[in-house]
Amino acid sequence: MFKCSLHNIVLAAILSVTSLIVIAQKVNEPRTTAEWTRLYQPFRIAGNLYYVGTYDLACYFITTPQGNVLINTGLAASATQIKNNIETLGFRFSDIKILLTTQAHYDHMGAMAAIKKATGAQLMVDEKEADVLATGGSSDYALGQYGTSFKPIKADRLLHDGDTILLGNMQLVMLHHPGHTKGSCSFLFTVKDDQRSYTVLIANMPSIVTDKVFAAIPTYPEIAGDYAYTLNAMKNISFDIWLASHASQFKLHDKHKTGDAYNPAAFKDQQGYDDAISDLQRQYDEKMQQLPAVK
Ligand SMILES: [Zn+2]
Repeated sequence: MFKCSLHNIVLAAILSVTSLIVIAQKVNEPRTTAEWTRLYQPFRIAGNLYYVGTYDLACYFITTPQGNVLINTGLAASATQIKNNIETLGFRFSDIKILLTTQAHYDHMGAMAAIKKATGAQLMVDEKEADVLATGGSSDYALGQYGTSFKPIKADRLLHDGDTILLGNMQLVMLHHPGHTKGSCSFLFTVKDDQRSYTVLIANMPSIVTDKVFAAIPTYPEIAGDYAYTLNAMKNISFDIWLASHASQFKLHDKHKTGDAYNPAAFKDQQGYDDAISDLQRQYDEKMQQLPAVK
């Protein structure tokens, strides 16, 4: 009798440990780098716009009198860094009202579900991203091969190209820039300080994710046309300040060192943007010349 119930207890313990392991394995971040996880001191970029991300995973924080906006969340483990960064700047994490993302890859979505749960904020995403969000990345045309790479999440509002996101005195325009993911997007908005106002572009740079030829991706038949559309659209945006999803993409660390004084002008870099887009156009053109793998 005793033996039997002990056996049952042991069995129950094994079963619960097993199920914990299954739960823990469900979300698998395929790759991280030291730059993605390294702590980074938050700072004020321009007006009511702040950088609150890790050393390379850019997260942007916009304050308004009616609550705040967070764009991108880094990896799952970035949640604590983002919260600490927001509090270091003197703001309340719980005042986040709107959550946005530039693309549904795990290095920008990792902590989204946890931050949404903690703050009760509304998640608004490009309509073409909704499916990949709901599957935690496993339906992504490229990274889907790694399974669930971030916690699945449902959007509260689906955005279409040119839609406006309103909060307090802020208006952000979403620009549909597909290719990198089906619903990658950029944000265009104006911030002010006591000197002047700045038009800010947070750009999702259309880098190529897949090693396959575009024609070999049946789950995304529009991919070549989407990249072409995005590259063209991105050549025609006017802005004062250019930022991107990764710090390295807009050379944040050349433009700002920890402890530097407030200096929005450091981020006025039309030439850097033009060069980056030209480089991506070249990569796209080369990709279009790529031959299918011989069977
Ligand atoms: Zn990505």
